[in-house]
This record gives sequence, C-alpha cells and structure tokens, in this order.
Amino acid sequence: MGKNQAKQYLRQIPGVDAVLQMEAVRVALSRHPRKLVLDAIREELDETRKQILESPGTPAAIDPSELARSIAERADRLAAFTLRPVVNATGIVIHTNLGRSLLPEEALARLQTVCRGYSSLEYDLHSGERGSRHVHAEAILRELTGAQAVLVVNNNAGAVFLILNSLARGREVVVSRGQLVEIGGSFRIPDVMSSSGAILREVGTTNRTHLKDYVSAITDQTALLMKVHTSNYRIVGFTKDVPLNELATLGRERGLPVVEDLGSGCFINLTQFGLHGEITVQETLRAGADLVSFSGDKLLGGPQAGIIVGRKDLIEKCRKNPITRALRVDKMTLAALDATLRLYRDERQALEKIPTLTMIGLSAEELNGRAKQLASAIQGADPQATLRVEVRRSFSQVGGGSLPAQDLPTFVVAIQSGDFSPNQIEEFLRRNDPPIIGRIESDHFIMDLRTIMPQQIELIALAFRRIAEPL
Ligand SMILES: *Cc1c(COP(=O)(O)O)cnc(C)c1O
Repeated sequence: MGKNQAKQYLRQIPGVDAVLQMEAVRVALSRHPRKLVLDAIREELDETRKQILESPGTPAAIDPSELARSIAERADRLAAFTLRPVVNATGIVIHTNLGRSLLPEEALARLQTVCRGYSSLEYDLHSGERGSRHVHAEAILRELTGAQAVLVVNNNAGAVFLILNSLARGREVVVSRGQLVEIGGSFRIPDVMSSSGAILREVGTTNRTHLKDYVSAITDQTALLMKVHTSNYRIVGFTKDVPLNELATLGRERGLPVVEDLGSGCFINLTQFGLHGEITVQETLRAGADLVSFSGDKLLGGPQAGIIVGRKDLIEKCRKNPITRALRVDKMTLAALDATLRLYRDERQALEKIPTLTMIGLSAEELNGRAKQLASAIQGADPQATLRVEVRRSFSQVGGGSLPAQDLPTFVVAIQSGDFSPNQIEEFLRRNDPPIIGRIESDHFIMDLRTIMPQQIELIALAFRRIAEPL
C-alpha cells in the first residue's frame, strides 16, 4: 500500500470524542466504568492504526458501526473475570489446571457462615484473650489421623519447604534417587530442597534403592531421612524401594526423624474402587513416619492447603519457624477444610458428599446412563443431524499426581461434525459461556461423563445447538 493511501485510511479513523458518541459505545458506557471503555477505545484505535500501517494489501474502508461494535466487545472482554467456572469434560478428576477439587456443599456453607462476619480466628473465647488460628482444623485432623500434632499451611509445597527449612537447614537430607520427582513443572523436590537450605544426599539408583544405601549415607551431618511419594509416575520392572517401616526403624536407631511427603494424602482406602498404591495418612503414621505432609485439595477433596501431621516436638519446631507466618492459611481455608474433614467421621458420608470421592466412585453403569442422556440431549439439539454422536467406553484419570498409570473405566460421548473439525469444535466449546473443556482423540471430540455434573448436560446440549445451526 502506498504511503498516501495509508495516510488517507489513517485519516478515516475517528477521534476518541467521536467514538464516545457511537451507539454501541454508549451502551458499553452504561455497562462498564468510563475508564475501562476509554482503555478499550484506545486499544482498538491503536490496533486499527497498526493494521493499516502493516497490512500489505489495501484495507477495506473503516466502518464506524463495526468499529464501535469491536470496541464494545473489547470492553466486555476487559471487564470479564479471568477466573471463571468451566465444565470439566476431560474426565480428569483432580485437574490442577481446572482448580483441582470441588468443595463439598458443607464446606461452601461453612465458608459463608464464617466469612460473612467476624470470627474467632485468633481469639480464645474461653479466656477472652488472643488465641491461635492453628487450633481450628487441629482437633479433627488429630482425631482422623491419630497424630500427636498438626500444622496447616498454604499448600503441600509450602509444607515440604517448611519441614526442610525447620529441621534440616545447612544439613543433609537423605532421599532415594528414584523419588526426586517433579510435580506439575513448578515443584521439583531437588529445587525445593536447595531453596529450603537443606543439602540433598541422593542414594540408590533411579530404579533401585536398598536400606544399606541409606545406612551408608548417614553421617554426623544428616538431619533427616525423607521419602517422597512418587505420586505422578511409576517405575515398573526391576525395581526396589525401601518400605517406610524399615526406614522408620533405621531412623529410630540413629535418632533421625523420618519424613514422608505423601503428595495426595488420602484418609480412605481406595482399593474399593480398584485403585491401588495410594497409602492412607493413618497407615503412613502407623508405619512409623515421624512427619507426614499432604495436600488439602487432591484426594482429600477440600480447599488448597498443606497439612503436616506427626510428632509434637518436630511440629513445634516448624511452628516456631518465622517462615510459618509467610505460609499461613486464611480463615476461608480453615473454615472449608474443617467442614470437609468432619465429613470423614463417617466414611459413607465422605464418599457421598465430597465431590472428588463421589466422582472417583461413580460406577460404569451410572456413567453409561449419563452418557446416553448427554448423547440424546445433543441429538435433540441437532434436528438436521449434522453431528455424529456416539457413546463409547473409555478411561478417566484421577489426576493431581495421584494414582499414576491407573485408569478408571468410564463412558464418554464422542462427536464428529460434517461441518467442523474436532479442533474447531474444541475451540468453539472452549469459547462458550461457560467454557466446556474436553479432549480430542482419534479425530473425535470427546467428553467424559465422570467429571460432568448431571445439571450441566443441558447447557452442553445448548452449546451444540449453536454448532449444529445451519451456516
Ligand atoms: C502435589 C504434590 C506436592 C505439591 O503439593 P501442592 O499442594 O500442590 O503444593 C508435593 N509433593 C508431592 C509428592 C505431590 O504429589
């Protein structure tokens, strides 16, 4: 495009005052703060200018009403929440990118009750004096795990950091090489260890570690023996791992605390769902761990938190560490955690009322029924039959780094369209309100019923109605 032509188009761009008078922009002004609409106008005009200067071809003449509409849409986008509810159709129950565990109704209700007004967060109602926030989830955690003492912090990465910094700064921590795991990219055991000031003493090989490896690594510099639950991968084949009870015996003989980072942390035996390898917190303590740390929002099914349970003297050292103040949990976490934990007093109640456990426990028969329901709702929204809708068997994952290599049999709805590719369907649904997140598999768009709530079936069908509409 010639310089003069570009100049001519640039001159067509209206000024901010003129834009403010346009109909769609005036509607935007009635919905959003003036500052936000002005930002949207500036961004849109800048982009239009840039397009004119950079575009190799001749741009179409500027249409003022289209410009106003783009500005209004941009203002809507700027005003929208970035943290929004989505439909999880991936079948990954503890999906870290989609917010991990859904809170039980009991926890949501408690959150409202406690956070609507003032609370006894750090106020001792018996003495009328300053109290400690650490007491709130403590009683129930001790009751459920049988631990002497408890400390709740912001998340499990924080809990591991706090344990190492409090008990092993400047000294050595012995860990099996096969357990130096990375969790979700941002949490690597070796990195957490070095930033905590503890010195990593790796023992064994990737696939095999023996008790004698630990024994020969112990020196007068050793602060503790650590075990990390390899929660998101599994080594199979020629492997050897030292059982916790043997490590605990060694720790007692040498006067060294044994710490286990359990990762997920579960109170209920999941073998009833055909899931193996996730040892409970209670069992870990009984096997002799001095401290155990785990997440609040993985298999436990509560809010984000890092929970440390175990020996009182060690917990006391962690509590006295000034870093504890930087990792402290707020009243929202404590209220939701306490209410979630109370559900575990009755295992049947926990399985029924904690969404993470309920979803893991859904039977194939139930999921098949729901898949048929979703399939027929979608077909009902597609009278021209532009979509091919099928119910299929597949597998869901627990996720959240729990139970790797163990899949739960499920039923999915698989979709193909005569008009759109699976990628286009995926993008369309991702842009829906609420966004629907599924996956693409062998040229189909797939939705797993395990993580879709029954009341979401209609809104998914509604989104497909728009895909199925004639072009
Ligand atoms: C998930 C996990 C963590 C991190 O827990 P967050 O609560 O996400 O901070 C640490 N260790 C293990 C073994 C884990 O699985």
